[in-house]
Amino acid sequence: MLARNIWRTICLLILFAAIVALPASAQEERPGLYRVTLPATDREARTRLAEQGIAVEAVGPSGVVATVDEAGLAALRAKGLSPLAVEPLDFPPEDEAYHNYEEMMAALSQMAAQRPDIVVLTTAGYSVEGRAIPAVKISDQPEIDDPTEPAVLFMALTHAREHLTVEMALAIVRLFVEGYGTDPALTNLVEQREIYVLPNVNPDGGEYDIADGFYRYWRKNRRPNPDGTYGVDLNRNYGYRWGCCGGSSPVPGSETYRGPAPFSEPETQAVRDFVLARPNITAAISFHTYGELILYPYGYTYDDLPEDMDADDQRTFVALANLMAATNGYRPQQASDLYITSGDTVDWLYGQLGIFGFTFEMYPTSFSPGFYPPGEVIPRETARNFPAVIALTAAADNPRKIIGLGGDATPPVVMLYFTAPDPWLVSTPVTLAAAAEDDVGVTLVAWQANGAAIGMDRTPPFTTTWAPDEPGLYRIEALAFDGGGNVATSEAFTATVYGPADAALDVAGQDAVDLFAPLRLSFSRPVTVTTLALHFEPPVDFQLQAWGETEALIVHAPFRPRTHYRLVLESGLGPQSILRPAQWDFSTRPSRVYVPLISAFEIES
Ligand SMILES: [Zn+2]
Repeated sequence: MLARNIWRTICLLILFAAIVALPASAQEERPGLYRVTLPATDREARTRLAEQGIAVEAVGPSGVVATVDEAGLAALRAKGLSPLAVEPLDFPPEDEAYHNYEEMMAALSQMAAQRPDIVVLTTAGYSVEGRAIPAVKISDQPEIDDPTEPAVLFMALTHAREHLTVEMALAIVRLFVEGYGTDPALTNLVEQREIYVLPNVNPDGGEYDIADGFYRYWRKNRRPNPDGTYGVDLNRNYGYRWGCCGGSSPVPGSETYRGPAPFSEPETQAVRDFVLARPNITAAISFHTYGELILYPYGYTYDDLPEDMDADDQRTFVALANLMAATNGYRPQQASDLYITSGDTVDWLYGQLGIFGFTFEMYPTSFSPGFYPPGEVIPRETARNFPAVIALTAAADNPRKIIGLGGDATPPVVMLYFTAPDPWLVSTPVTLAAAAEDDVGVTLVAWQANGAAIGMDRTPPFTTTWAPDEPGLYRIEALAFDGGGNVATSEAFTATVYGPADAALDVAGQDAVDLFAPLRLSFSRPVTVTTLALHFEPPVDFQLQAWGETEALIVHAPFRPRTHYRLVLESGLGPQSILRPAQWDFSTRPSRVYVPLISAFEIES
């Protein structure tokens, strides 16, 4: 017993030593920077801080922001300055818009929670340091893997410093999450495809690159190598033609170190196993930065058509690359036109599995800003790739259809019809219908008014009901989609939708009217007088001076003196006289009563 206890103690001691040793070495390696907010509400307070050697970076209502290291933080506290907030830095302050690993995971969870009906967030595997490698699936019925539904894969952050690619992956998830049910083309793709996104396949490298508030220009993963260096280049570690042809390095310290064996790294294993488990993936984009290029296989050889490349596939790669390049302005080329690479992701995707895999080298084209463009370019540079993402997703039923081989490249035929009331008033529902046909089958019909979807239907007879809630001129059209992601648009109809007319009363006097003064009612658009519902309180017999459709009318009434009147206008009588209900109050002046000396006399003729 005693011996066992001693042994256990020794084990615990070793464990403790290991635990204590880890943070110590980590601290040595990472100086640690913090963003601190210090209380200072006026310029005098800020000046006092500046006099103490604090570099003020930003001024807010309650304090100033400065960046300090461990020693600086200790010095602040020694001076009796207690920060309102201390945050460890990740991305430098000017690049806050980028998502670090934790923020990315939170954003993914948030989107999965927002649309659980189309988004499932899982884990593809774990990194060297044990971080989860997230996997997103977007499809209707996302829990069911349907091998008959074509699938497409988008992946990001193979290389640690290429942070814009994580934003690209998040933007793709957001595109489909927000587009589902509102954008018919995206809705159809979510329903006809399984869309997979691996938003961060190198989480250790990505975190290491930004850990201290400055960039390390780190590329590889964080594998500790036997010679004391770190990292394997994940884009040289895939198992197709691994280590061949001079396209990678056997030296661990090299930026393009291929690792000790193909798929030696848990990150590439995770991608491999994820793809192998989903044989319906036919097309893929692996996002990198930078260069604004679309690269297609192979990287391992300069030969355009080596033995392991099918001639039709090669034509398909060129055609798809050209198609996508036309949408984003990137330059399409074979990967090896840049330089020889071996063991990269897309060589494996195509060489091993026949998947039409592309490498996108995103913005910018040059070393300035290189790997670290400012956060403000994220929306522009991610949206720039949406048309390419959509086109490749649509082509995934059979990418070869772009060169006319197989697949469904024929769009449906669609006709729009509906009968609208004349005039068509806001909030009046109208049934829109469409006749649509397709050689393979119509999967979705959508109606648009001025480009915005107003209804969708999936089964014939295709109809929707729409009640416009804003007056205006509408261009209405029907769209029909098929399983090939093809779309047809009907001839457009233009319809005017009217809002209720507003009436205004012009009272002749300042604050009171004369007994026989005419009142003038004017309308914001012509109304039909015969259907006006107008009355006075107290009641007065009145006459209207206007005919047919009018924009203004005169009301004649014999008022009584010193009386408070209310003129009430009701709506709802007849379509053209729909008026916003209104009422006006006014008083009449005291009358000057003339008593004739002779009340009546007859003139004899
Ligand atoms: Zn890269």
